[in-house]
Amino acid sequence: MSEQLSEYRRKRDASKTPEPAGRSGRRSGNHEPMFVVQRHDARRLHYDFRLERNGALASRAVPKGVPLEPGQQHLAVHVEDHPLDYATFEGEIPAGEYGAGTVEIWDRGTYETLEEKKNGGLTVRLHGERLNGTWALVPAHLSGDEKNWLILRKRDDASEPLRAAPATYKPMLATLTDDVPRGAGWEFEVKWDGYRAVATVAQSETVLTSRNGNDLTARFGNVAKEVAKAAKTPDCVLDGEVCALDDSGRSSFSAMQQGKAGTPIVYYAF
Ligand code: MN
Repeated sequence: MSEQLSEYRRKRDASKTPEPAGRSGRRSGNHEPMFVVQRHDARRLHYDFRLERNGALASRAVPKGVPLEPGQQHLAVHVEDHPLDYATFEGEIPAGEYGAGTVEIWDRGTYETLEEKKNGGLTVRLHGERLNGTWALVPAHLSGDEKNWLILRKRDDASEPLRAAPATYKPMLATLTDDVPRGAGWEFEVKWDGYRAVATVAQSETVLTSRNGNDLTARFGNVAKEVAKAAKTPDCVLDGEVCALDDSGRSSFSAMQQGKAGTPIVYYAF
């Protein structure tokens, strides 16, 4: 039997949170065990990695997201078992309640257990929409705390060949024409007047790079922080423009250069 769900229930007030009440019980019939990864924008953004085991969801909180590159490993903090019906839960946990914030499903699917060690270590093959391949959960006891496991991506057939260097992306530039193109397949948007910046989000940290390859991250630290939160995924690359808005909400290059305190700075991703 898995850990009881009493810890799950103890932490939650069923009259205040929309989360599943926490009934225990296995699913009937033959089926592959499921996994789910939920993006949890709580006091601290993290990803909850859950595996169906013994009639419950064995759960770990992964602050940097599930590692994608073979050999990469991330902290995975063991948390209380969750009920099976938590696997379909998405929604808002109200302020003041345990885990207050937004829960979204980032990936789900089935998995196979490839290896289970005496110390609890697990190697699994995930069959999800985003996650396909082999991961290991290791009871690493980081900082001497037995809650602190590691999740690591293993090399396997499904893993991408290692790149010599991370791919770099350049902003997509506009082409000057005499006429406005018409017809299906065209969209129109305002020309934003600010700093063009490619936002590279890796492990929930953003680096902003200008057209000329200069690092703008320190200059627009708040933008970098918010882009990582808004991206809804721990790893991606966005092309966009950092703009300062004037009093009427228009992007203003002079407002940007003056850098007046209180001027809203925004990032428009194309
Ligand atoms: Mn969580």
